Amino acid sequence: MQEKGSISIHTENIFPVIKKFLYSDNEIFLRELVSNAVDASQKIKRLSSLGQFQGDLGDLTVDVKFDEAAKTITISDRGIGMTADEIKKYINQIAFSGATEFMEKFKEANDANEIIGRFGLGFYSAFMVADRVEIDSLSYQEGAEPAHWTCDGSTSYEISEGTRTDRGTDIILHVNDESAEFLNQARLSEILNKYARFLPVPVRFGTKSESQPDGEDEEGKPKYTSIEVDNIINNTNPAWTKSPSELTDEDYLAFYRELYPYSMDEPLFWIHLNVDYPFNLTGILYFPKVKNEMEIQRNKIQLYSRQVFITDEVKDIVPEFLMLLQGVIDSPDIPLNVSRSFLQADSNVKKINNYITKKVADKLNELFKADRKNFEAKWNDIALFIKYGMLSDEKFAEKANDFCLLKNTDAESYTLKEYYEKVKDIQVDKDGNIVYLYTNDPAQQDGFIGSVKAKGYDVLALDGPLDTHFTGYLEQKGGEKVQAKRVDADVVDKLIPKDEQQTLLLSDDESKKASEIFEKAIARGDMKVEIDALAADDLPVSVTIDEFMRRMKDMAKTGGGMGFYGTLPDNYKVTVNGNHPLVKRIIESGDEDGAKLAKQAFDLALLSRGLLTGADLTSFVKRSVEMI
Ligand code: ADP
Repeated sequence: MQEKGSISIHTENIFPVIKKFLYSDNEIFLRELVSNAVDASQKIKRLSSLGQFQGDLGDLTVDVKFDEAAKTITISDRGIGMTADEIKKYINQIAFSGATEFMEKFKEANDANEIIGRFGLGFYSAFMVADRVEIDSLSYQEGAEPAHWTCDGSTSYEISEGTRTDRGTDIILHVNDESAEFLNQARLSEILNKYARFLPVPVRFGTKSESQPDGEDEEGKPKYTSIEVDNIINNTNPAWTKSPSELTDEDYLAFYRELYPYSMDEPLFWIHLNVDYPFNLTGILYFPKVKNEMEIQRNKIQLYSRQVFITDEVKDIVPEFLMLLQGVIDSPDIPLNVSRSFLQADSNVKKINNYITKKVADKLNELFKADRKNFEAKWNDIALFIKYGMLSDEKFAEKANDFCLLKNTDAESYTLKEYYEKVKDIQVDKDGNIVYLYTNDPAQQDGFIGSVKAKGYDVLALDGPLDTHFTGYLEQKGGEKVQAKRVDADVVDKLIPKDEQQTLLLSDDESKKASEIFEKAIARGDMKVEIDALAADDLPVSVTIDEFMRRMKDMAKTGGGMGFYGTLPDNYKVTVNGNHPLVKRIIESGDEDGAKLAKQAFDLALLSRGLLTGADLTSFVKRSVEMI
């Protein structure tokens, strides 16, 4: 018996169109065919466990083979198989009603995945690489006849009796000339390694040599011979499919190495995800040491659907800040063939997003509570990630307020609440603002840190890449009336202005004179000179930079503020301490000596904050040598 028919899509020949369209992504044919084989194998297992199949399951390994000379790739399974009627039903009828509908949807689709997903064209992706495809199948059903189907990529097929004697299906691809790259061990290995690595049924591809003990040689030493063994390419039971109670820390670390064999570092900790309502999701997320963006790019989170790899572009499924994490997410609720626009609109995806955020926050809180010392020790490696989360996700921030740490320059750690309590009575200004003092560069700002600490104030080390933005967060959410100021934003008495003020020991005339001398000696239009009453033992001259303007510039630099601020000059202020004996001396010296001393004192202030460079530095050194 032989029957010829036409694949019912009521259109001439759409395969060339599909093929062309799909070409860029054509490697996914293997994912589609191997996952069909795996599905068929799992179905027979299920039927067997339900008692609906009484026969012997046998070895369910899926085989992928290729023959370079014959130009074929064959995917074989020992799954449920198909009868001729089933082939007609499942393969020949494509799930759309007509050519018009097809062409409409086709135009809207963005990539091959979407086409395949929309039309249930998984099997037909074979035609992306093959001129002709054969199916050789024998159904598990009692008395079933083997069936053979062949199709040359046009809409007509041929179905006939097959010769197969064991249960299951062979899909034979007659690879076309343009796709010859796939008739290659390394290329197929690469694709299988990408998509099939964690499939739940063993997949065998090619053979490999392995050393086996083989008795002893004449001297009594153990002998080895090399034998060819089957090469199962997948781990059918990856860690995320197991229950957390079955797994030790070593198992989690081993799985991490399996996922990222090239990663140098071990992860800091991990979260095992496991939900079944209102959606299905399992997975393991690892917290890496986040040092730089490069590493994040390399070791991305991988998305699976029932252990079939889908993508490592998880942008819409995982909240953006969580993309700093690594690991695996597996959800059958995310369709295999997904498109961006679908994901963005899908309500399940939104729920998944929220769930993961909550779970990550809860885990961090748990780690913090269980072992604060350890958490503190790891803080530097996770701070970037947590702050990113707090700045970008309100729900996460709410939770993270409890475990986000502030570190001061003495390397002590405080929660936001603790820190507020620590400084609220000391670092309060005359208007009741609680002023958090911070440094972004302890070495550069050492002088300022020293004078601030001499006052009994504390200094936070906020030197991470997101801390410019994080200071703003602290002011909004870190406690009532909190203001953050960098230690070099002003002279210490003005950073936290108090009611009691030092009185200026200079007369109005002297003050005016000092102003004139300094302005002339400094001779810089971008620096404003102010004569102020500070303690006699404070520095005679300080150069500070306005907090607000500096922050605007910093924001512009990190892309957060309006571009306009980036073009502003630095807002430096020169504060001359009118109560310092040197200032008195400058006023009383002759014009020439006074100017020299003023310049020297100013250069020292610049020097102390690393602003004295180039010719200015050279002439300073010269002048200093002359003076001594
Ligand atoms: P999908 O897998 O999305 O349903 P496919 O075009 O890949 O779409 O496959 C269509 C149908 O053909 C499958 O649902 C299944 O019933 C049947 N099928 C495909 N491959 C096999 C196989 N190896 N063994 C048994 N049935 C198969």
